[in-house]
Amino acid sequence: MNEALEVWIDQGLCTGDGICAQYAPEVFELDIDGLAYVKGADDELLQEPGAATPVPLPLLTDVIDSAKECPGDCIHVRRVADGVEVYGPDAG
Ligand code: SF4
Repeated sequence: MNEALEVWIDQGLCTGDGICAQYAPEVFELDIDGLAYVKGADDELLQEPGAATPVPLPLLTDVIDSAKECPGDCIHVRRVADGVEVYGPDAG
């Protein structure tokens, strides 16, 4: 089953260590403010609070590992269909 997932970062809790950007630089990047943001389709950083971007299937493991290792517990991966968090601090 390949359900579409998306990911967003709660910058309020981000420590800026950059683990996510090491694991999945295609999805995460640190901005000059020292915080991590997700990238949109055109590689632009999405800076609106709560902005989400699709998780490409080939990068799913890297994104999940990022969420698991994130020291700030601030990477949230959720199903697009119903918005339920499947990996991250609010996952069941
Ligand atoms: S792993 Fe978490 S705390 Fe670290 S830079 Fe990424 S979002 Fe921020």
